[in-house]
Amino acid sequence: MASKVRHLLGISGGKDSAALSIYMNRTYPELDIEYYNSDTGCELQETIEFVDNLKSYLGKPITTLCATDGMLEKTPFDYFLKMYNGFLPSVKARWCTLKMKLDEFEKYVGDTPTVSYVAIRGDEDRDGYISTKPNIQAIFPFRRNIWSTDVIKEVLDNKNIVKFKECYEGRCEVIDKQTGDAFTLKAKLNVLLETDTVAFNHAVYLYLKKYTQLPVGMLDSFPLLENEDVIVKDDVYRILQESGVGIPAYYNLIDFEVGGKKGQYCRSRSGCYFCFFQQKIEWIWLYEQHPDLYAKAMEYEKDGYTWIQGESLKDLARPERIRQIKLEQIRKTEAEKTRRKSLVDILGEQGTNEFDSI
Ligand code: SF4
Repeated sequence: MASKVRHLLGISGGKDSAALSIYMNRTYPELDIEYYNSDTGCELQETIEFVDNLKSYLGKPITTLCATDGMLEKTPFDYFLKMYNGFLPSVKARWCTLKMKLDEFEKYVGDTPTVSYVAIRGDEDRDGYISTKPNIQAIFPFRRNIWSTDVIKEVLDNKNIVKFKECYEGRCEVIDKQTGDAFTLKAKLNVLLETDTVAFNHAVYLYLKKYTQLPVGMLDSFPLLENEDVIVKDDVYRILQESGVGIPAYYNLIDFEVGGKKGQYCRSRSGCYFCFFQQKIEWIWLYEQHPDLYAKAMEYEKDGYTWIQGESLKDLARPERIRQIKLEQIRKTEAEKTRRKSLVDILGEQGTNEFDSI
């Protein structure tokens, strides 16, 4: 009987989720994946154009989730900002992601069992968003370990080891050696993946089928069980270039000169133009490349609220401050170049998760 499980993939407008959609479309055409993105009303034009390119490549619709369809406010962000009495979101109070993205995603899914494909790369050491809703299961196709932490905790917990061994169908000598307290969950996982990733995936799948109600266990088959790929940042760029989709235009390096020295800047992330995760040099990029958006971001700074802790955008845009930030950027770039990193690496993507920019 055909499975009723949905397969969803969120397109953020950033490089990783775009590469994942291309990769999944190409590698697993048999999966009926639905693509979606979240409308905050505050994306850069470059992001919108990149998502349009991707849509043409995929040849499938990308459903837009909008938390405030039909509301009178200018954007979903304005609607929620009013609800929060002008209190700007921040790293510590990230109501923006919750209200504009997570809640909307969970509403869209409803109660249908759903596999959500998440673009965390094999060279990243972080966990993605794990829904609190039991009918949503996250899968990470770019990592050797495609399973989420909650699943790994369940199957490798010593109290479940007998059940898990049954699922391993006789190929579990390695688990026998790894059940003692001296072995952390991570150590057990690494040994099992290194020994035979595909056998491990099949054992997890069988465990999910027998002992849980998780969506992957409800599937008649799951092609990602055979997946041994590990996709890192260079692979992401390669996938995007080879597909013809290219990279988002905000990654393009732009030259600047200050105090007789030459430097470059760009933006390192998709998401809202005023995102508080951006670095100061990225704010300067916004000020010089999209002055209208910088002015709009400034308008939100009222009643003592600022996007950057302890510094207003008005202060940041003073010529001497811009000069200082640019000189610091040149210094950092030169230091990092000796470590042969790209500028996007230097700017980093800290603090993001797959929902930051959806
Ligand atoms: S991009 Fe930044 S500001 Fe926008 S929702 Fe995500 S965390 Fe919040």
